[in-house]
Amino acid sequence: MERKTECEIVQDLLLGYVDGVLNAESKKLVEKHLSECEKCRKRLEDITKDIKENENNQKKEIDYLKKIRRKARIKSILIALGIILLILLGIYLYQFITICSISNKAENSLNSNNFYKETTDVLGDGQTVVTRTYYKDGKYKSVSDIYTEEGIETSLIKYATINSDEIIYISEVNKQISVEKGKFTKMINEEESLKGVTLLPFNTNSFLSKIGVAFIMSINVDTYQVGKEYYVFNNRFERTKNWEMWIDKETGLPIKIINKEGRKSFYTGTQVVKEVNDNIQEYKYEFGTVTDEDVAVPDINSLIGYTIEYINDEDWIQQ
Ligand SMILES: [Zn+2]
Repeated sequence: MERKTECEIVQDLLLGYVDGVLNAESKKLVEKHLSECEKCRKRLEDITKDIKENENNQKKEIDYLKKIRRKARIKSILIALGIILLILLGIYLYQFITICSISNKAENSLNSNNFYKETTDVLGDGQTVVTRTYYKDGKYKSVSDIYTEEGIETSLIKYATINSDEIIYISEVNKQISVEKGKFTKMINEEESLKGVTLLPFNTNSFLSKIGVAFIMSINVDTYQVGKEYYVFNNRFERTKNWEMWIDKETGLPIKIINKEGRKSFYTGTQVVKEVNDNIQEYKYEFGTVTDEDVAVPDINSLIGYTIEYINDEDWIQQ
């Protein structure tokens, strides 16, 4: 009876003993009893084991919670990445579809048999070149005028017919006519090159070119200045954003190309910048307005005061 009571007392004290909160006397009593009683030693072992297991379980629980939280974080990052990818894919698809539509419109515009194009090239230094191109049923004429403060000077008139082997150049300034003939000239007299819109930032026929350009270009829509809508093409990888092309929404043809600060002049004999100008080309188009007279070749032999030279391009190609 007496011994059982001591066991009970000791066992009541064991938790405190393990936690190290017993006073010296109680601790001594417990240790003395433990050295004599196998049963209570076993009880102490069990308590210690229980505590350890409990601690392990708590640790496992915390680890589990951490794991779940980490998984949730990874999941939300993946979802965010997925959304960004979807947006980028959407932008890419929009650009690719836009380019295909521009390309179709440009091709339709260029299929016209009656086509007028005006190119204005601002050269800076008070000079602007305006080239008017007329095309009607296979016949082609272009007139280049140089505008300065002193007046307008026609520098060159050019006549050609599609698939013919002849081009006539008339220089009013030099009073000179050149008639160029030959295989090479015939190659130049292709419909596409005479209509002369090779200015799009992509090859209208090439699927690969469209895929590439949809990736490289950023395409926006604007209405500023022109009064109608046009696309603005920029190279998204060009950090300076100096190059810009405007493409008319209706015709699919370029109406403006800007090279910001594209022209620099220097003080003579130095590297010191005198003037910085934007290099700007503007294009206007009309369809169905070109008349037969616009493209009629004049009788060059009846032009007074001109010298005529005949050039066979095979002669100078061989040189
Ligand atoms: Zn005991």
